[in-house]
Amino acid sequence: MTPAPMTILVVDDDATAQVLMRAALVKAGFEVRLAGGGEEALQVFREQPADLVMLDVDMPDLDGHAVCVRLRAEFGEQLPIVMVTGMNDLKSVERAYDSGATDFIAKPIHWALIGHRVRYLLRAAQAMLDLQTAEARNAAILNAIPDLLFELDIDGLYIDYHTPHAELLAAPPEVFIGKTIDEILPPNAAKVCHAALQAAVEHGSSTGLQFELQLPQGPSWFELSVSRKRTAVGHKPRFIVLSRDITERKEAENRIARLAYFDSLTGLPNRQSFLERLGREVRRAQHSRRRLAVLFMDLDGFKTVNDSMGHFAGDQILQQSADRLRQTLRPSDMVSRSIELEAGIELARLGGDEFTALIVDVERPDDVMNVVERVHAQMRAPFHVGGRDVLLTASIGIALFPDDGDNAEELLEHADTAMYHAKQLGRDNGQFYRAALTEQAKGRLELSTGLRLALERGEFHLVYQPQLDVRTRRVVAVEALIRWSHPVHGLIPPLDFIPLAEQNGLIVPIGEWVLRTACADAARWRQAGHLLSVGVNVSPAQFKDSNLVQTVHDTLVQTGLAPQMLVLELTESALMADDGATLATLNALRDSGVQFALDDFGTGYSSLSYLRRMPLNNVKIDRSFIKDLPHDSGNLAIVRAILSIADSLGFSVTAEGVETREQAGALAGMQCDLLQGYLIGRPVAAAALPAELARITVEN
Ligand code: C2E
Ligand code: CA
Ligand code: CA
Repeated sequence: MTPAPMTILVVDDDATAQVLMRAALVKAGFEVRLAGGGEEALQVFREQPADLVMLDVDMPDLDGHAVCVRLRAEFGEQLPIVMVTGMNDLKSVERAYDSGATDFIAKPIHWALIGHRVRYLLRAAQAMLDLQTAEARNAAILNAIPDLLFELDIDGLYIDYHTPHAELLAAPPEVFIGKTIDEILPPNAAKVCHAALQAAVEHGSSTGLQFELQLPQGPSWFELSVSRKRTAVGHKPRFIVLSRDITERKEAENRIARLAYFDSLTGLPNRQSFLERLGREVRRAQHSRRRLAVLFMDLDGFKTVNDSMGHFAGDQILQQSADRLRQTLRPSDMVSRSIELEAGIELARLGGDEFTALIVDVERPDDVMNVVERVHAQMRAPFHVGGRDVLLTASIGIALFPDDGDNAEELLEHADTAMYHAKQLGRDNGQFYRAALTEQAKGRLELSTGLRLALERGEFHLVYQPQLDVRTRRVVAVEALIRWSHPVHGLIPPLDFIPLAEQNGLIVPIGEWVLRTACADAARWRQAGHLLSVGVNVSPAQFKDSNLVQTVHDTLVQTGLAPQMLVLELTESALMADDGATLATLNALRDSGVQFALDDFGTGYSSLSYLRRMPLNNVKIDRSFIKDLPHDSGNLAIVRAILSIADSLGFSVTAEGVETREQAGALAGMQCDLLQGYLIGRPVAAAALPAELARITVEN
């Protein structure tokens, strides 16, 4: 389809000019309308607008200038209006432009060229129109774009901007221009912008880089699209940067991620989520040098239940298992003091009947075994499904970080391997990835169970070790030391079970028993004429027990022992615990007249001057400083220093572990007050003590 021909309105009062003009234009392919005067021209144009108007300047009624002004006023700037003027009429040409003409043609007219001239004029007018349309369209598009648009140079300098949503800006738009992104944006966002510009330098454009801004309405996410602008040679590169608010999309992604991260049946995190968390915790543990444990649990016999009772029953068991795990591993439920689960335990369902737990901040593998035992106990309770009771057990594998792997995948795999091992060993048990750890943990678990029963069964007894007063050569004190006769393992040394009792809290009842027994024995000796003070070892854990003051008081009243005859032996760690409770306990005990000795002095960190503030009566120099006396000049100097400071602070000093006459001689020479050790006497049972005292008196 050929386009409709362009229409030209020719306005001239000269009939000859009209005819010639029409002939030339028709020949050039235009459609021509004629008007013989100004008024007629306006009338014709109003009825049927033309694409171009050719106006003769000289017309009797309304001259060309007047017509031009009225056409402009009525039909706007775009209409091409050509004035036909006299050759010499320069003034008329000027007036033509003043009155708004687009161009002029001078007479005499070159009829052969007039068609080209008009066509050129029309094209120019069309181009102008197109440009204006394009600009209008661009403006409309820009206004419709919700994105922020910036023009930046390679240094990140703001050159121009378009911001339909000023609330999405880090600063008011006016202040941008002339500043750089480093001045306007927070460092992280500026860094992303620079990276996007750099990518656009290299590839012409860049898309997809994102950053977060803290705006008054909350955290917002933006995604950048950058394209490089053409610039003249030698000019700095410039960029059009589109910054799109993707906050909503981010939120949606997070929602989706949450859905994808959770197991819909149990509501527990899924494998992916667990691995990511484990990865994070591994990195954290690497820094803090902490231990992690990964538990891998598989229900024994689940498949049978699922097959025989149906999937619905199976799902219920899985849900109940998840609930039980949540219950068992709830931080507040952790009775084992050693696992203070501040960061908590992360549970997950890997799929099928496989569950995992991540325990952060594990101090001892035994603690993990305790947790595993609790899980086992929980799982053994019957599951109620479909009106029936179903019995199941669990096999659990444990992998430790850093012992068994240094990344999430490896730890999970090794926990899985350990779980298979547990299955092979007959199910319903827990295994460490390292077999030796299992043995050790089992042994300690057994010991801790035995310890619970030892008190009831009367398997403990005390032995007493004498302390010799160097000046009077008499035994003035004894230290009570606990012994455990295990029905199977025989005599177990205190260093093997006291730490365990401290962990599981049994130290409190055991300590009470020691105190009562020692005080009763001392009171009995007193009645038999032996004036001996009795030393009782007290663990830091006992100080945390708020009943200690009352217990000591009651014991003294019940046994009739004078408070001054009871010496509580404390370690530095008990004294250093700077919680108010410990100090209050110490002070309350001192006020009741009880004495204090600082045990194992020199192995901790406290300085004697720090101890000045403590209610101490005696310091016991640790055996390690006594062992090589008098030959080790370093230790000799230390012992001498301790003695001199203790003297100035008014503490008496006991040397521990004195085994030789040489040691005893050196210590006596340095004015040490009391000696304790195999040389003076080994610890003996209460009944054997009077005979022991007699022997020592004779020998010294
Ligand atoms: P301790 O309080 O430093 O007790 C001294 C330990 O050194 C005792 O070991 C004692 O038998 C040993 N000993 C004494 N003289 C010598 C010597 O000349 N040479 C050598 N090599 N050793 C000597 P024991 O009875 O095995 O007790 C070990 C630790 O167990 C004690 O160290 C104490 O910290 C703890 N303990 C013992 N009984 C109790 C108790 O009833 N309660 C608490 N909380 N801890 C206790
Ligand atoms: Ca002691
Ligand atoms: Ca000691």
